[in-house]
Amino acid sequence: MTPQRWNATERYAADVFGQEDEVLRAIAEATRSAGLPPISVSAEEGRLLMILASLTPGRLAVELGSLGGYSGTWLARGLDPAGRLITIEADPHHADVAESAFRTAGIAHQVEVRRGRALAVLPGLADELGPESVDVAFVDAEKVEYPDYFRLLEPLIAPGGLYLADNVYGTGDSWIDEPDGNPGIAAIDEMNRMVAGNARFEAVAIPIRTGLLIARRRE
Ligand code: SAH
Ligand code: MG
Repeated sequence: MTPQRWNATERYAADVFGQEDEVLRAIAEATRSAGLPPISVSAEEGRLLMILASLTPGRLAVELGSLGGYSGTWLARGLDPAGRLITIEADPHHADVAESAFRTAGIAHQVEVRRGRALAVLPGLADELGPESVDVAFVDAEKVEYPDYFRLLEPLIAPGGLYLADNVYGTGDSWIDEPDGNPGIAAIDEMNRMVAGNARFEAVAIPIRTGLLIARRRE
């Protein structure tokens, strides 16, 4: 697989599997025009998040890192119609843009944006939700905190539930198999190995965009 070959494969995947409806296109555009960084999941990865969520009971999802609400909208679409998404965002401007996206998507009644840093918000949220209550967790916030995210979220995942994490093969600048002193990369590697070595989960990461970890809590 040469870089050229990989780019061509990605273009093909985006062309064939990356369709978006008007709502998702509008959310992507609103994210751009609000000046947020271009680091949302791709449409193909978003579609995968939706498919994965729809394979669970889809009662409750928790996302870390809302940005403009793009991945959250895909995730929410995979939930049960009565299911809920709680998405945590540290940047108040991003949280505003995400809330507006969820209104655009007509899912504001299902989605709650919790403002604050994930590690500050999660302990209280864990008490509130209770153990084994989350069908899907999607981690996409601060890379150096990835090991702590898994430690805090692990007890919350329901049997059969999913723990998903973005950028687990790299961040775009640094790659997981080329340690360059980047603390984010070291932390992602630590989390990957922690999840892979956890006997309560089956885990694999697929090279979609910069890598998606898919871990399923055993029944
Ligand atoms: N999941 C989004 C992209 C998230 S980008 C999507 O695909 O559409 C990462 C987001 O995490 C940014 O909005 C950033 O502000 C937020 N973030 C960074 N550090 C955080 C932290 N410690 N806690 C919560 N959010 C954080
Ligand atoms: Mg990401």
